[in-house]
Amino acid sequence: MPHTVVIGAGFAGLAAACHLARGGARVTVVERHDQAGGRARTWSQDGFLFDMGPSWYWMPDLFERFFRTFGREVPDLYDLRRLDPSYRVVWGDVGAATGGLPRSGSPAPSMPPVAPEAPVWDIPAGLPALRDLFEGVEPGAGAQLDRFIAETKYIYEAAFSDYLFRPSLSFLEFVDPRLVLELSRMRMLRSMATYARSFFRNERLARLVEWPVLFLGAPATRTSAMYGLMAYADMALGTWYPLGGMHRVIEAMVRVAEELDVEFRFHTPVERILVEEGRAVGVRTASGETIRADAVLASADYHHVEQVLLDPPHRQYSPRYWEGRVMSPSSLLYYLGIDGDLGALPHHTLFFDRDLDTHMEAVYTHPSWPREPLFYACAPSVTDPTVAPEACSNVFLLIPLAPGLEDSDEAREQVFQGVMQRLEAHVGRPLRDRIRVKRSYAMRDFEADYGAFKGNAYGMANTLMQTGPLKPKLRSSKVRGLYFAGQLTVPGPGMPPSLVSGELAARVLLEELAAHAPDKGGGPR
Ligand SMILES: Cc1cc2nc3c(=O)[nH]c(=O)nc-3n(C[C@H](O)[C@H](O)[C@H](O)COP(=O)(O)OP(=O)(O)OC[C@H]3O[C@@H](n4cnc5c(N)ncnc54)[C@H](O)[C@@H]3O)c2cc1C
Repeated sequence: MPHTVVIGAGFAGLAAACHLARGGARVTVVERHDQAGGRARTWSQDGFLFDMGPSWYWMPDLFERFFRTFGREVPDLYDLRRLDPSYRVVWGDVGAATGGLPRSGSPAPSMPPVAPEAPVWDIPAGLPALRDLFEGVEPGAGAQLDRFIAETKYIYEAAFSDYLFRPSLSFLEFVDPRLVLELSRMRMLRSMATYARSFFRNERLARLVEWPVLFLGAPATRTSAMYGLMAYADMALGTWYPLGGMHRVIEAMVRVAEELDVEFRFHTPVERILVEEGRAVGVRTASGETIRADAVLASADYHHVEQVLLDPPHRQYSPRYWEGRVMSPSSLLYYLGIDGDLGALPHHTLFFDRDLDTHMEAVYTHPSWPREPLFYACAPSVTDPTVAPEACSNVFLLIPLAPGLEDSDEAREQVFQGVMQRLEAHVGRPLRDRIRVKRSYAMRDFEADYGAFKGNAYGMANTLMQTGPLKPKLRSSKVRGLYFAGQLTVPGPGMPPSLVSGELAARVLLEELAAHAPDKGGGPR
């Protein structure tokens, strides 16, 4: 039985480990931290339990698909709830004066579930309610939403039933006349921003359908309309939450892996990938231990694996290559434990009440600490009392920042005060004098904990020039038996794509092990 070492126990590493073990490999997962999860780890203090990273559970079908592969059903593993409202958007007066004109022949609008000019919209779960919202804001926009959903559903289904599961080792995988025809018919090479505005004149509606691409690490102006599939995931498939926290998903994956006899070595940083005669033969850990293997699958950050864990002759990409990549933003995060309640704050709130372009410029064009950032507040204790002590609230704040920005406590605190002032104004009560637990996390923490290049949070941005075969490859061209998975390779950032990445890397590795098995006439390649 061939032995594979998997570096990293995040979504990609765990997915890879499960697929490899199911494919007949003996698997050892080597993880630097004392728990699985990677960017989806937990941190707890004084009875508050924080998910450190992901908080939006989207694309439930992909999680179902993963667990079903191993004979498990999601409801047997964790208790998933659909959130309604899906989330709240705080607009302030952004986009308020751009209400659309009625389209000719539009039916009379039904009663809007939100006032078009209101500074706050609660976005309802389910397409019928969402359609009413759109129609109430811009006459005719309900029918436009139907069209938008039909197109993005098509892309979503094509991607997740097929294209996303191609390992992108070569452009030839995508030489498919049907794909080219469909992409050009729907003009998918346009930006998501242009695509959104081809459906909706009301600025808020356009923003509502384009914001989900921010998960992919670039603004809608720099992301292909192909990623409209994210809006389909949001609007049609819904926003979910596993009771107990996002980490429940990680725990379920670890359980599946252990049932497949995967061995976990926590608190074991890998210091070197061992290469002999051009082939990966194992790893050396920080304690000096050598773990020999027939292949290595590295799911830690690609840049860290190549530039730190491999000797220079074995690296495929130069420092110049990495400098030329568009990284996804980093983030300033705050984990807050608060005495008492939060007023009527829902589980997810997006503060889009300041100028988007100014913030995007501070993230992408002229990296700097934003003065008045857009931000996101997550309050899981609204849904789940287990993540905070009784009569207390759990709050997570996320402020996107430029990767590589100079990090300082003072800069963090200045942003924190501004953001908290806006949050307090929104909930109509003071919060800062009730804080019991407070921890910040930003660029230097991402670097220290994950070796993240420039302290990025979500890997590489899914710009058109960094999509599919244009991403760092999941098989090394320099070292035989070395494979990569995770959010810096295909398909990209996010929990569901990381699951897919682990599966793809495991599949390519297993195919090669099988092709070179001794009974096929060869040893390991
Ligand atoms: C703040 C934040 C919010 C997010 N929100 C969402 C969300 O709401 N929804 C969503 O779908 N996605 C979200 N994401 C993205 C998602 O969390 C990631 O894309 C995904 O978790 C990445 O998984 P991964 O396995 O590729 O990488 P990681 O989770 O980073 O896993 C890599 C693992 O490798 C380990 N490692 C690194 N170096 C070594 C070494 N030398 N030796 C041993 N082990 C090593 C690390 O400790 C880590 O456990 C968010 C991410 C962040 C940071």
